[in-house]
Amino acid sequence: MYDIIIVGAGPAGLTAAIYAARANKNVLALEALACGGQIINTTSIDNYPVAPHITGVEFGKTLQKQAEDLGVKIEYDEVTRIIPLDEGFRVESEDEEYNAKCVILASGTSPRKLKLQNEDALIGNGVSYCATCDGGFYKGKVVAVNGGGNSALHEALYLSDIAEKVYLIHRRGEFRADAALVDIIKTRGNIELVLNANITKLNGEQKLESIETDNGHTIKVDGLFISIGRTPNTANLVEGLALDDNYVKSSEDCTTNIPGLFVAGDVRTKALRQLVTATADGANAATAAINFLRK
Ligand code: NAP
Repeated sequence: MYDIIIVGAGPAGLTAAIYAARANKNVLALEALACGGQIINTTSIDNYPVAPHITGVEFGKTLQKQAEDLGVKIEYDEVTRIIPLDEGFRVESEDEEYNAKCVILASGTSPRKLKLQNEDALIGNGVSYCATCDGGFYKGKVVAVNGGGNSALHEALYLSDIAEKVYLIHRRGEFRADAALVDIIKTRGNIELVLNANITKLNGEQKLESIETDNGHTIKVDGLFISIGRTPNTANLVEGLALDDNYVKSSEDCTTNIPGLFVAGDVRTKALRQLVTATADGANAATAAINFLRK
């Protein structure tokens, strides 16, 4: 039995792993996709202290190595259920079962979808949720980004260096993103703003050909990058876990309503979801778990 199983090897989960390993705990981190989580999709991290301009991929790799060098075991497996037992927890994936005295849930969030009819069918054939991952396929082509937050505007800027033209489609007349970012967007000659517009239809069968909006536009595009926020990865993971709008109810101490189950990073209720607050959560959650184990 592990002392601590960490679900999710993003910045929150791996920071928790580092703190737990340094306290001599036996730690397993389970990751469904790739170490580093969402941050590996970021081209340049400019707001994390002491590491200006580090790429997301480099950040994720360095963090993974730091944890592994301390003895943290990382396995690639998607957790489907966490079951509180009389003593500890059983953590299940489709094919495996793991046991631990404590669990730290650091499962992050996933991109929100527009929920349009053929959206799922066109993923990988014109529809994407990550410009850093898929932008390279659109060199010299025409793309659209949907959303008005910091992420959408970062995606649009990134794509404007690759694509011939970028339509930035937002449902309001003003952006939610930082003013400085909006100012930069407005200086880019190949970004065209399409405001007060909701995307209502994706045309194309084998691949995306055009998009339609509710204010009468039909825009011919090769790619659409949907960046309209994210939803927490909590769905049916733990019975009885207190949630608020699907985020795990918690505060700075990273405890939950279930003794021995802690939460860290974007998946918990919090005011600011940033790299720096995710790593801070990792430290707090591990410290709370270490104290729990001591008792
Ligand atoms: P966000 O700030 O929540 O923005 C989501 C955007 O999508 C909003 O403009 C929203 O429109 C729009 N939207 C939501 N549902 C929609 C729908 N069904 N159809 C069309 N549009 C829809 O999310 P985010 O941009 O992913 O950022 C998440 C957090 O990370 C934020 O706190 C952000 O500041 C932070 N972040 C920071 C940086 C940085 O460089 N500091 C970079 C990336 C992200 P409305 O505005 O109309 O609600």
